[in-house]
Amino acid sequence: IKDVKKHFPLSKSWFEEKQYVKAVDGISFSINQGETFGLVGESGCGKSTTGRLINGLIKSDTGEVIFNGKDLASLSEKQWKAYRKKMQMIFQDPYASLSPRMKVKDILMEPLTIHFPRMSKQEKIETVKNLLDKCGISEFHLNKYPHEFSGGQRQRISIARALILQPELIIADEAVSALDVSIQSQILNLMKNLQKEFNLTYLFISHDLSVVEHISDRVGVMYLGNLIEVASKQSIFKDPKHPYTKSLLASIPQPDPSVKRERISLKGEIPSPSNPPTGCKFHTRCPLAMDVCKEKVPIMQKLNENQQVACHLY
Ligand code: SF4
Ligand code: MG
Repeated sequence: IKDVKKHFPLSKSWFEEKQYVKAVDGISFSINQGETFGLVGESGCGKSTTGRLINGLIKSDTGEVIFNGKDLASLSEKQWKAYRKKMQMIFQDPYASLSPRMKVKDILMEPLTIHFPRMSKQEKIETVKNLLDKCGISEFHLNKYPHEFSGGQRQRISIARALILQPELIIADEAVSALDVSIQSQILNLMKNLQKEFNLTYLFISHDLSVVEHISDRVGVMYLGNLIEVASKQSIFKDPKHPYTKSLLASIPQPDPSVKRERISLKGEIPSPSNPPTGCKFHTRCPLAMDVCKEKVPIMQKLNENQQVACHLY
């Protein structure tokens, strides 16, 4: 992702100046093949928009999204179809993404019918059975409807559907946020196993840091449309640099008493993304803000091999 921006117009009456929600305001990062990149931040920070920009559900205003060396904006409709297969999404609410009137078998067979029109019905059923089995859903359930399953089982079904076309990248947007904690860890472990087996790359979007800690190799933190820190999981959770990252971490329980975390608490509310503060957008809430922070936008800098941060303290 190179310098990607997406501003959504706010509808206003004709005599007022047009305003924009700066959902994604110039972000750059990369995801390595086979890793899990966790994207965190409060709701409204632009994480979901970033996921949708990557898989082409929405187009960016400027910047490039490069997948396997190809700028996705340069693809024709036909080429897009081939790329689409390689990127799949999993959402928070499997109820909304699984058609209530279709049997599980048909939900999973549909993409095969579209993308492999020559595949025989028997072959399709075998593929579906195999994959569901790997996702923890037995073949006895093939003829059931989504409402006959629990929330966790439904998420297993949507994971299977995301995998049916053998994608390379999975974008999981709050994929376990609606589930009970015990079910969350089952689903996260399932995702880890599937990642190994199918050599998958994950972009794992979540507001929940403990979930991100469980599954990620690297983590990016977003605030009001910008990435403010990108680091290995170890660096983010043991040695966070950005005051915002520190404040997020201070709010989650720390089971390891040897890890000392600075207590940073934020002042005020998150500002509106249509009228963000000047300079460092975090300056209105940052307890360490200096004069320069109000004027100058901090640039992302590399501190070491594992850590980048955008803050004038560094
Ligand atoms: Fe705080 Fe300034 Fe760093 Fe922004 S740049 S996080 S306001 S110290
Ligand atoms: Mg979201």
